[in-house]
Amino acid sequence: MVTQPAAVDVVVIGAGQAGLAAAATLRRRGLTAADELVVLDADNGPGGAWQHRWPSLRLGTAHRIFPLPGRPLPVADPELPAAEVVAAYFGDYERELGLPVLRPVRVDAVARGEDDRLVVRAGGRAWAARAVVSATGTWRSPFVPHVPGIETFAGRQMHTVDYRSADELAGLRVLVVGGGASAVQLLAEVAPVATTTWVTRRPPVWLPEGTLGEDAGRAAVAGVERRVREGLPPQSVVSTTGLVMTPAVRAARDAGQLQRLPMPARFTPDGVTWADGSHAAVDVVLWCTGFRPSVQHLAPLGLRTRAGGIRLDGTRAVDEPRLHLVGYGPSASTIGANRAGQAAAREVLRDLARTPVPAA
Ligand code: FAD
Repeated sequence: MVTQPAAVDVVVIGAGQAGLAAAATLRRRGLTAADELVVLDADNGPGGAWQHRWPSLRLGTAHRIFPLPGRPLPVADPELPAAEVVAAYFGDYERELGLPVLRPVRVDAVARGEDDRLVVRAGGRAWAARAVVSATGTWRSPFVPHVPGIETFAGRQMHTVDYRSADELAGLRVLVVGGGASAVQLLAEVAPVATTTWVTRRPPVWLPEGTLGEDAGRAAVAGVERRVREGLPPQSVVSTTGLVMTPAVRAARDAGQLQRLPMPARFTPDGVTWADGSHAAVDVVLWCTGFRPSVQHLAPLGLRTRAGGIRLDGTRAVDEPRLHLVGYGPSASTIGANRAGQAAAREVLRDLARTPVPAA
């Protein structure tokens, strides 16, 4: 049964870093009533995508996690998985700020209502909002490229989202596909216990100084921002900057475990074959081939350009100004999510003040 939409000023979809940054700003600036703000989150508990990351990922081995606005990251036991630490930290944040997060609530659709509101639907429930901040990340949209012959491959296929620990791959022949941060981090874990083959489309580019300088970071973000303004599909920022050489990755490289090969021409039932006819037997393919923005719920708004992206001006959708996207494209990092969430919230607050309240 579909109920009448509940009227609310702002719906934030997603309670990861970007959604919480937006919701916290809205809350702090006075949206405290039940008909002013609601946060809908598809997960069972707090933590956004971090709660799903593999157990061996620690705060110290993650790229770099920026704290949520206004609350420092906890000083955590370095042995604890980042998934646990971040989930507890996000949960405390939600409670301390009194953020009205409803979960598990998975939004199926955002559509234009009959009045001046956007209707947000989740199962049988619905909200009619004056503004929507969509902060749904990418974790639920793993991407796997097509390689000829993959349908004949008889071994196991996993994506980064399925990876739990190197132990389950011990002694196996593992093909790691992808040139991003997840690929090299997982390779560094798996290579000591398995026979790994690493393939990427382009030769990997390593950051010369081992970390991303501020200017290079800003330039990379500006490049992705430009793409998003033009309605092109966003790229990951890392793909435009290069790979960070962490101590674990350096150790793997020094042990000769980061020998990269080009993409194979095709899969066979027992492995892969390259254009020159060489062959490698493979038990498991680990696709570290990234993600796409999780924006399927926005389909009814018809915002996708022919190029496949959603045109944004800052965080605002050019073709639906009541909608903001945060954690999307240039803001798909913890620091970007903070900035975008807060910026979107400020714009929403300005818009709400400007929109006259309809007469009773
Ligand atoms: P998420 O954390 O994914 O949160 C999205 C939330 O939206 C989730 O809670 C989900 O349940 C909810 N949701 C999704 N769809 C719906 C729906 N339809 N309805 C309702 N709720 C929905 N960045 C860094 O800065 N440092 C790092 O070290 C780092 N490491 C990374 C490692 C990996 C493997 C990956 C994939 C990314 C990493 N990133 C890192 C980038 C990362 O994506 C961002 O840092 C950030 O955590 C993303 O926050 P978010 O709020 O945009 O998305």
